[in-house]
Amino acid sequence: MNIKVLISSAVMVAIIMMSSITAVQAAANDTVTVYSARKEHLIKPLFKSFTEETGIQVEYLTGKGAALIERLKLEGEHTPADMFMTVDAGNLWYAGSEDLFQPIKTEKIQNNIPKHLRDPKGLWTGLSIRARTIVYSTDRVNASKLSTYANLASPEWKDRLCLRTSKKIYTKSLVASMIYNHGEKEAGNIISGWVGNLAATPNAKDSHVMNAILAGQCDVGLVNTYYYGRLIEKDPAAPLKLFWANQDTTGVHVNVSGAGVTKYASNVAGATKLLEWLSSSKAQSIYGSLNKEYPANSNVASDDIVSAWGEFKQDDMNLSQAGILQAKAVRMMQIKGYK
Ligand code: FE
Repeated sequence: MNIKVLISSAVMVAIIMMSSITAVQAAANDTVTVYSARKEHLIKPLFKSFTEETGIQVEYLTGKGAALIERLKLEGEHTPADMFMTVDAGNLWYAGSEDLFQPIKTEKIQNNIPKHLRDPKGLWTGLSIRARTIVYSTDRVNASKLSTYANLASPEWKDRLCLRTSKKIYTKSLVASMIYNHGEKEAGNIISGWVGNLAATPNAKDSHVMNAILAGQCDVGLVNTYYYGRLIEKDPAAPLKLFWANQDTTGVHVNVSGAGVTKYASNVAGATKLLEWLSSSKAQSIYGSLNKEYPANSNVASDDIVSAWGEFKQDDMNLSQAGILQAKAVRMMQIKGYK
């Protein structure tokens, strides 16, 4: 082999290598990588539809929210994740406070998702709504006795109340909203009243709260609406109903599942496009039908089972408060003996 041939084959190798790098980069630009604390069956249909419409592939990794946040922190600027999805504004706020998101503010997102469901700095946006409200036994409770979260602290409900543990983020966010709406002192009195009215030690899950009511252990409780939806879908005759709390005052406490673009995303444009698409009418109706949640986009109708529970006024507290007041809520529940 003469020198000329050697050089030209070296050039050829270099050209092949360069073109394969370009191919990898092109593929990377057409892929968005998502870390999701939402389960696969809730996100896969959405991503599939997004890919069909845009040609952008979505790769995803599902896991526990806390573990994925730790992973994002450890990976730092080398993370493959362009987006992080999780449930509860308290968790989204925490990821934001750990500097894991970058601000994304686009007209589409601002038009599609109401302001109180988005981070004021644009670090994350709510994509589906779940209300946390009162659930009661239709056998033993007259709905006319129900009114507010605060009212569950009144003597009427002595030994009749079941609650989920204070360790769950859903409880922390609700109590944070009560601190926001009532002030610390009054919220503390309400928590004390709740603890005094408990029929049993707090339950590990919302479904256990409803099972305890069905078993006659207690008469009222608090649940996220989609857990009620799952139960009633399986057993439409169950003697349980939802009651919309605080309709004459601040409205029902709502929370979200949501997402943000990661601080070190390599495909910011693709991730922003996905976030915008997830807020669109098409994605929002898929969202609602998958998990008995409410669309965050108020122009989109809820699924039939969810609509049957009736309309309600929602608390319009900006959900970043669920994070900002979380530490106060946790301390208060400890002091008041809410386990
Ligand atoms: Fe849940």
